[in-house]
Order: sequence, then structure tokens, then C-alpha cells
Amino acid sequence: MADRAFRLHDTMSRQVKPLQTLEPKHLRFYTCGPTVYSYAHIGNFRSFLTADLIVRTARAIGWKVTWAANITDVGHLTEDDVADAGGEDKMEKALRSKDGENFNNVWELAEFYTEKFKEDWQRLNLTEPTVRPKATQHVREQILATEELIRKGNAYETPTGVYFKVDSFPAYGKLSGNTQENLRKGVRDVVQDDNKRDSADFALWKKDDKHLMQWFSPFGWGFPGWHIECTVMARTYLGDTLDLHSGGEDNMFPHHECEIAQSEALTGKTFCDHWVHTRWLQVNGEKMSKSSGNFYTVRGLIEKGIEPLAIRYALISGVYGKPYNFTDQGLIDAGGNVDRLRRALTAAEAALLTGTDGPDELAAILEPIYEGALDAMCDDLNTSVALAKALEGAKVINRDGEAMSKASAASAQDFLHKINALLGIVSSDYDLPAETSDSGPDEARIDGLIEERNAAKQAKDFARADEIRKLLTDEGIELRDSPEGTTWTRKPTL
Ligand SMILES: [Zn+2]
Repeated sequence: MADRAFRLHDTMSRQVKPLQTLEPKHLRFYTCGPTVYSYAHIGNFRSFLTADLIVRTARAIGWKVTWAANITDVGHLTEDDVADAGGEDKMEKALRSKDGENFNNVWELAEFYTEKFKEDWQRLNLTEPTVRPKATQHVREQILATEELIRKGNAYETPTGVYFKVDSFPAYGKLSGNTQENLRKGVRDVVQDDNKRDSADFALWKKDDKHLMQWFSPFGWGFPGWHIECTVMARTYLGDTLDLHSGGEDNMFPHHECEIAQSEALTGKTFCDHWVHTRWLQVNGEKMSKSSGNFYTVRGLIEKGIEPLAIRYALISGVYGKPYNFTDQGLIDAGGNVDRLRRALTAAEAALLTGTDGPDELAAILEPIYEGALDAMCDDLNTSVALAKALEGAKVINRDGEAMSKASAASAQDFLHKINALLGIVSSDYDLPAETSDSGPDEARIDGLIEERNAAKQAKDFARADEIRKLLTDEGIELRDSPEGTTWTRKPTL
């Protein structure tokens, strides 16, 4: 395989540039994971899908990937979007809520949502990370790092906590463009703590012997700051300098800025040379929020009967570097496209058994299509072009369907397997139980009505045939007629 450049936008240098690895063809990559106090929403997953597609693309061009994607299972504060967060602890708040009544304590709550998160991860067919460290498993290293930062003069202790001294790290602000001057002026409402020497300083450790999750440290009972957790986990699994770090655009400041300051102050080395951030997601043109009633979790959509791979397809159909509008129509189209790819795979598998002994007519057509998809992914994850290439291949395969030769079928199958390894949209890598919200009898009734409609059409009773189609459409069942017969899908609605 010829060496390919893998070009990705880098937030730090504000340009698309080739991804460089310290070790040749070995990508060491860190992704900020969720804080597990509730179900992750589809906006969170869009950002994890960017990371998943980076891993898949790197592997497709022959790289080895070591990918750490953490779980933040220490409660962080509801105002995490300011440098030194204030407000309530997210997990304590969740424990006091209605859902919280199901748990005996905050540890159980974190464990429950961690498991649910992993389930959703698999349902959306994201690649398993090499390691999925939990913040609570690395508190010792976080305490050691905090002590080290005090020793080096980058941090100081007060009666309420240990703070990172932002003015000890002149490069603070290099990722997000937030200068220290701006931070001090209070671009955002930075928490005021009389013990802090500078309002921009952020916490490495909060002293709190009432906190539901607390550990003993040289600074007394308390819990770590959010940012130091990722610094320590990235360093533990990937070394002092990473090749790539990703997150959602809301992680850029303060979280990633603080990670850089802590890591570089600790090691004296560059923490990471390449930063990828996924832009935000809207639903039907509006900001997703619990109060607007358009807040979607993966499991919520699956419960509405929407197929997980269709959700995946829809979420990756917009490029990560632009805000994405998740719509009803987008989901419907995604479902139809997944169906096309799956039909192509079914046809290829059938023709492998029953096909003729003719020549391979597909390899020469499908290979350049796959190369086109891979080129698009190497060009800053251009998923819209890559998905169009996948569909172009499916169309070629579906044209001949089961009538293709065995040799053509082998090439078709190879194409679909490679497309699936790259984009994860043909079939799931996981052996998961089938998830249909409706059970057999309903499906049998729909199949029965379709048979009745076909019989009506044959008898030229078009009024009855139309009546049946309308009946099913009203129930959200969409019919698709083709020479091979009629198929149906449940039309998703958000
Ligand atoms: Zn992080």
C-alpha cells in the first residue's frame, strides 16, 4: 500500500494538515469521554463518532492505533464551561433527581451510566478503544501530579483547594485563543474564591469532606478537578506527547486549554501537536435542549423504532467540522441508505453460493470507488463524499443482484467489508440482540397487508391497493416497490 497522508483540521494551528505520528505509522490518540451522570445524547455521540472514524481511517491506511477514550466517573460541577467550575456536583444532583431514587449511592449511579454508555457505543457500532480508563482508577496519579505542580511552582494550596497558577504558564490560551487578559476580565463568569490569587486560576484539587466521592490526599479529604484527570490518563496510557487529541467543541475551553497547561508544566514537553474538535449539533434546526423537548439519546431513538445503524449513518453524514442539523428527513434517508448497503451484502452473499462461473465484472469498477472513499476520509474526514462512494458501490452491486457471477460476488463482498471497516454502516461489528420495538404479530400483519395489496394490484383493483398503502403510510410504514418485490420500513419520526 502506497503511503497516504491523513489530513485533518488542527484547532491549534487553525489549518488542515497531515497528521504526524512520533512513531512511524503508530497513532497515539486520546479522546475525552463522557461524565457518566445520565445517558449520553446524540450530540455527544457525534463527537465520539468523529474519533471512531479517525481510528477506522488510520487503520485502513495501515497504521496501528492506540486509542484511549476515558470515562469521567467523578462528579464534576454543573458550570464546567468556566475555567474553575462552580455550581453543583453533576452526580450528586443526578442522585437527588427522580432517576436518582433507583440508586443506593453515587458510585452505583456512575457504574450504571457507564454501562449504559458502553451499550450505546456498541449499538452505534463504534470501535472499541484500546483502553477505556476511568478517572476514579487514577486518583493516586492525579494527587501525585498535583504535588509535582506545587513543587515546580505552577500550583499553590489554599484553605479550599489547590489551584493551577495560570500566569506561570505563558502559553495558556494558545488553543482556544483566550488570552489571560481576557480571562481575567471575565469573558465568562469565572468563579470567585477569595483564596485564589488570580480569578483565572483553576482547581487541581477541591477540599471537601462532605463530597459524596472523596479521597484522602496530602491536602486533606476532597476530590480532583476535571482537567487534571485527562492530563494524567493521557500520560499514563500514551506518554508525555500525544499524536492527536479529540473532543467536542465545548471541550476546547476551558478543558483542553487546562489539560495543555498542566501537562506541559509537568513534563516540559509539547503535550499534543494536533487537536480535533467536532462542531455542535442541532435537531430540526433548533438547539437541542431538555426544555425544548428535542433532547435525544441513542436509546430514546432506538425505542422509537429507529435502527441504530441509521442513527449512525445520519450522525456521520455531515462533516465534523461544520455544525450539523439532525432532521427527520435525514434519518429517513439514512435508513434507506443503510438498507441499500445491506441488500447489496445479502445479494453478494447469496450469489457467492448460487452465482454463475462467469468472470469478475465488478473488481475493476469497485476498487476505484473504494479508493475514492478512502481518499475522501483521508481528506479531513470528508464523510459526505465517502458515504456517496459507498452508495455508488452498492448501486453497482444491486444492479446485478443475485444474478452476478461468483467471482463478481467475491469482489462485491470484499468491497462491502472494506467499506464497513472504514465507515461502519453496513453491519454491526457487535453481536447484539435484535432491537425492534414491535414484536412479530405486527410485522406479520404488515406483511399480510402487503400481500393483499399485491394481489389487488394483480387484479387491477388499484383503489384497494392505494387504500392499503395509505393505511400503512398513516401508521408510519413506508413501502418500497422494486422488481424483487415490496419491502417496508418503519418511518422514523423524532
Ligand atoms: Zn478530557
